Amino acid sequence: MDTTKIELAALTLPELKTWLTGQGQQAFRADQIYRWLHKNPVDSFEEMTNLSKPLRALLSQQAQLFSVNIEKKLVSSIDGTVKYLYRLHDGNFVETVVMHYWHGTSICISTQVGCKMGCSFCASTKAGFVRNLTAGEMLWEIYRAEQDLGKPIHSVVLMGIGEPMDNYDNVLRFLQLLSSPEGRGLSLRHVSLSTCGVVPMIDRLAEERLQLTLSVSLHAAFDEKRDRLMPVNRRYPLKELLAACRRYADKTGRRISFEYILIDGVNDTPQDAAQLCRILHGMLCHINLIPANGVKEWQGRGSTVPAANRFAALLTEKGMNATIRRRMGSDIEAACGQLRREREEAQKGGV
Ligand code: SAH
Repeated sequence: MDTTKIELAALTLPELKTWLTGQGQQAFRADQIYRWLHKNPVDSFEEMTNLSKPLRALLSQQAQLFSVNIEKKLVSSIDGTVKYLYRLHDGNFVETVVMHYWHGTSICISTQVGCKMGCSFCASTKAGFVRNLTAGEMLWEIYRAEQDLGKPIHSVVLMGIGEPMDNYDNVLRFLQLLSSPEGRGLSLRHVSLSTCGVVPMIDRLAEERLQLTLSVSLHAAFDEKRDRLMPVNRRYPLKELLAACRRYADKTGRRISFEYILIDGVNDTPQDAAQLCRILHGMLCHINLIPANGVKEWQGRGSTVPAANRFAALLTEKGMNATIRRRMGSDIEAACGQLRREREEAQKGGV
């Protein structure tokens, strides 16, 4: 990778104009290039056919396109869920999952290569952190899937590999570009950002007053349990996290979505349900219950169906807004992080 080259797909249209005029080009060229980057994305400057040859040569010299390429594609025979393993320009891999719902097509994208957060149940964090994704790479996770599937994506969730709040600036830039009317033009109402609970960043995001849905991975209603499952809780315990969530809901008027993975015998008892009701009492929120997926390096397993149903019933009886999430792509291990791990282990083993 040539780090002296500028990543064009990470620039807003005004930034692209400034850069181009700085290169002695006319500003209107920026509109044309922006279209090639975000409306009808192409892989190379050569394909930007309405630009002059010298301009294309200049772009190749000064700039780069961090597109992603499909290394592996799995399609679920149960529900058509598609999982991509993408290869990045530097040989790293990330995963992206596309799910088809009655209301449209949804994509779950990665925000980092690996993750620093160390949650005990999560495959994405097991091999540690490699690097942040750029805004252009995150956009390309969507563009490549749209090209491959030949249809548009309607909603985006930032729930793949990585902690979006730990790559805040690039994620914000990604959101700005994704929703820009001259580009992909996706309303942020169709975007969810999921965090393990990095409190200062929740406050920072609240200031942006975006239309997106904030998802918070809660997974336990007692600090002792959450400390064990999610190291971030030792830094930002539940009391601080929930106070930040309340501030977020107040400031943005948006309902928060809490993710709660149900782990057999660990966090799915009636005491856990009662405590969850207590700590979320009065908050504008929805609770998404998700039976945990098995992960190789982790002892835990998902709650049984009766246990999950009982847990959900205890919440709804107390007037909480809770649903059990349908599992998608169970035959292709659609839970994020597992495919990348397999691939890396295979490479280490020389396969
Ligand atoms: N770092 C962010 C987003 C990526 S993880 C976050 O923590 O929210 C996306 C979601 O998948 C999170 O809710 C995470 O807790 C969940 N997850 C991770 N491992 C899982 C597993 N084994 N089973 C079910 N959900 C899992």
